[in-house]
Amino acid sequence: MKKISILGSTGSIGTQTLDIVYQYPEQFKVMGLTTHSNIELLFAQIKQFHPEIVAVANKEKVENLKNMISTLDNSPIIVAGDQGVIEVACYGDTESIVTGIVGCAGLLPTIEAIKAGKDIALANKETLIAGGPVVLPLIEKYGVKLLPADSEHSAIFQCLQGIDNKDLKRVILTASGGAFRDLPTEKLKFVTVEDALKHPNWSMGKKITIDSATLMNKGLEVIEAHFLFEVDYSNIDIVIHPQSIIHSLIELIDTSVLAQLGWPDMRLPLLYALSWPKRIHTDWKQLDLAKMSNLTFQKPDYDKYPCIKLAYAAGKAGGAMPAVLNAANEQAVKSFLNKEITFLAIPYIIEKTCELFVSNNSSQPTLDDILEADQWARGTALMLVKK
Ligand code: NAD
Ligand code: MG
Repeated sequence: MKKISILGSTGSIGTQTLDIVYQYPEQFKVMGLTTHSNIELLFAQIKQFHPEIVAVANKEKVENLKNMISTLDNSPIIVAGDQGVIEVACYGDTESIVTGIVGCAGLLPTIEAIKAGKDIALANKETLIAGGPVVLPLIEKYGVKLLPADSEHSAIFQCLQGIDNKDLKRVILTASGGAFRDLPTEKLKFVTVEDALKHPNWSMGKKITIDSATLMNKGLEVIEAHFLFEVDYSNIDIVIHPQSIIHSLIELIDTSVLAQLGWPDMRLPLLYALSWPKRIHTDWKQLDLAKMSNLTFQKPDYDKYPCIKLAYAAGKAGGAMPAVLNAANEQAVKSFLNKEITFLAIPYIIEKTCELFVSNNSSQPTLDDILEADQWARGTALMLVKK
């Protein structure tokens, strides 16, 4: 039985991970859970999964949770604030941490979990994008595993099993195309938050759904792939695949191309990130190619989706630039969700913030440099929102 904890257990990734535990209780034991503010759902999860420790990041909510829990016979340790989330990430003999927190808020807990010797099932891509230059050396130093749970990176990782790294030539990330795939570019001016939240294939948290509509999600995944698989940016490609059945592909030096296929269901990549190197038998719906409609592919439209180019440029610039891109994007998406800016202002704000950072970038940033760049970029993006 593997002992796991889930950071952000009340979100889309968190609840889908708990669904796996519910279905395969003989495989996993939940040690710790965390939420930002959703104590009602956390309370229900405590009753169902009996964790040893839970954290509420929002300190104002923790007393309410304590009151709710006082009615239980067996109550977990309750901790609060960002420090509380870190305590859960480092707790006891937990083996694997699923990082389901959204945004750069996941960075410090992930770093502390690595230092405590925990394997990381990485859903929280923002952590690696911003913190790659410090996270990767720590993975080496502490000898832990960084296992991708993002569906594309899981697909690449699955294809890479048994492949010598020197034989990998190119990775090809598939993208659904997001909410506005079939909308003409000139109509993007008029789209609303509600329109952008309608993802064609996946049901996810709001932030990543907006990232899918701008295709920044794919841009962030390019940087994620660079860090995870040590592939040069010139060898990372994107192809639009509206059906989301092929989750990504790799090309080898002899031109052979390998792909991983499955329904658009995050539980499979999450399960593999927890079971690797083993496979666990499931009774999930089988893929039936004969019953499926066509699988189609097209080139991404880089003019319609400037976020893709911005992400490649930030990735190539390296240093703390990906952290700046990520933080500006987090702020711009937040402002868009609050209806303070239009959809097309998102790439504009990110581009301007990155431009203003160029001369401050350093090629070997420390954790402090990254945290400082992150804060600076949030402030700069917010200033641009207000302009
Ligand atoms: P979500 O918004 O549904 O859930 C986020 C979780 O993090 C919640 O439990 C919330 O309480 C917690 N949280 C939010 N802000 C926090 C903070 N400041 N401190 C501590 N906890 C905080 O998000 P999601 O869709 O589950 O996405 C989580 C991460 O996984 C993101 O990085 C996303 O890019 C990545 N991801 C998600 C999916 C998906 O299908 N949802 C797929 C691939 C990758
Ligand atoms: Mg993905």
